Amino acid sequence: MAVKRQLSMVLDLNKCIGCQTCTSACKLMWTNRNGREFMYWNNVESQPGLGYPRDYQNMGGGFDKDGALRLGRQPSQEDYGIPWEYNYEEALMTGTDPWLRPNVKPTWGANWDEDRGEGDYPNSYYFYLPRLCNHCANPGCLAACTRNAIYKRQEDGIVLVDQERCRGYRYCVNACPYKKIYFNEQISKSEKCIFCYPRIEKGLANACARQCVGRIRWVGYRDDKDGPIHKLVEQFKVALPLHAEWGTQPNVFYVPPLSSPKYASDGRTLEEPRIPLDYLESLFGPRVGEVLDTLKTERQAKAEGRESALMDLLIGYKHADMFKLS
Ligand code: SF4
Ligand code: SF4
Repeated sequence: MAVKRQLSMVLDLNKCIGCQTCTSACKLMWTNRNGREFMYWNNVESQPGLGYPRDYQNMGGGFDKDGALRLGRQPSQEDYGIPWEYNYEEALMTGTDPWLRPNVKPTWGANWDEDRGEGDYPNSYYFYLPRLCNHCANPGCLAACTRNAIYKRQEDGIVLVDQERCRGYRYCVNACPYKKIYFNEQISKSEKCIFCYPRIEKGLANACARQCVGRIRWVGYRDDKDGPIHKLVEQFKVALPLHAEWGTQPNVFYVPPLSSPKYASDGRTLEEPRIPLDYLESLFGPRVGEVLDTLKTERQAKAEGRESALMDLLIGYKHADMFKLS
């Protein structure tokens, strides 16, 4: 789907601390009301794990190798997790309930698998994977909409739902393999991450990126050769899409995580990384090993006091330098 320019985001998974500040910033700005309470346009999930909504990676959607659209399944309310409140009045004000507790039984949430990970001590591992709509170049949601209600903005490639045209058929929810478009039962329409376009139009970065305490997110245009996205994706080639095999051509990219080496049973340090390479390849494709080698080489150069333009970029010395929005 050709657009004049494409806005994009790169996230360095080596720097994410799983604090969910991005999630809170997004939720407070866009989804804490009016039937959106269960939605997380941005969430951060611990991997390995089932993610959000629960087991979304096995729900289908996207495109076959021959380009045919696949309609996957829709998540249930339990797969998203039912939003809950607490009995503040009874527990804290009147003292009629000795326990502070949720008013419904929680079933799932934005990071239900928090810090569970895989592997046995001392070789256990996990990392955080922040996820948002990928504002795909070939969006499954758009292809599936029989009302032509979903469109990509020509000026920046942001994928939006025309709320006037949407009739709530939900084919988009089936077709998005990332399950990053949601059905709002209160208004019978689909809704999704809008890449904070009202902020972008004022020259401000997305709320999730601006508030990120780990400074893991860069925002800019893919064709801007002086911008961070082009440098990380095309020049240094260290940022990879999540599940490219789903065929939607994502515009959100990830610098994959390095991990500590494994320990042998006698306490020796081994060469093998704790996060298995084949697991990372199942998420980010066959180039992961090459990217991790580049990161290791460049990190070593910096540690030895040599120049590394890549590490200087990845460190993100100033938050303001991480966004290039024109
Ligand atoms: Fe559509 Fe899903 Fe791609 Fe977002 S991630 S543009 S909702 S297919
Ligand atoms: Fe990770 Fe940044 Fe979100 Fe914290 S705010 S969870 S560091 S992406």
